Amino acid sequence: MVKYYIYISLLLFSVSSFSQTARDELVPVKQLIADIVIDLKYNTTDNFTSQKLYTTDEAYLASGAVVRLKVVQDSLKRILTHNGISYPQGLGLKIYDGYRPRSVQYLMFEIFPNPIYVADPASGSIHNRGGAVDVSLVNLATGEELPMPTKFDHFGIEASHDYMNLPPNIIANRTLLRDMMTQVAGFSIYVSEWWHYTYAPSSSYPLLDFQLR
Ligand SMILES: [Zn+2]
Repeated sequence: MVKYYIYISLLLFSVSSFSQTARDELVPVKQLIADIVIDLKYNTTDNFTSQKLYTTDEAYLASGAVVRLKVVQDSLKRILTHNGISYPQGLGLKIYDGYRPRSVQYLMFEIFPNPIYVADPASGSIHNRGGAVDVSLVNLATGEELPMPTKFDHFGIEASHDYMNLPPNIIANRTLLRDMMTQVAGFSIYVSEWWHYTYAPSSSYPLLDFQLR
């Protein structure tokens, strides 16, 4: 595995051929979950860097993580009533970010070098391994997001799972997402960010740095 890391880091900007196992292979999320909503904020200027950092609207994740996300999506679809509101087609997931090239991580850390919110690129982010996903809940019939504690990438205490100074319906939405991701699908939370979840096996996956088109 150590050899593998060295190999990857030598090829930082030109990774094109390397072997991956079936579980850590990056795949387009939509390939398995056709009705998931994708809203990659880093493919727009509507993010904390105010720069468009991606070249695709396609979200990619390690295939093992996508299989787990599918379980969440299928479970959410069966929720037709939540917080006293009816959802005729159920609820679903929206993805803000998935796999993120390591060079983008360097740029982000340069702009906002606070490791609570932006992982140090020297050690890398789980996003660079294809095993972290930033998600929210949507009304599947409209694609509209359910109210959450903050916007995506809000760098403050209000984004924490521990922050309770919120209306009950918003706490219920955050809790539903958390229960689905952790109890139904086995993802791990990140306490400082309600939207960020990690797929545990990916902590040993290689740090990758290729742009997806
Ligand atoms: Zn994240």
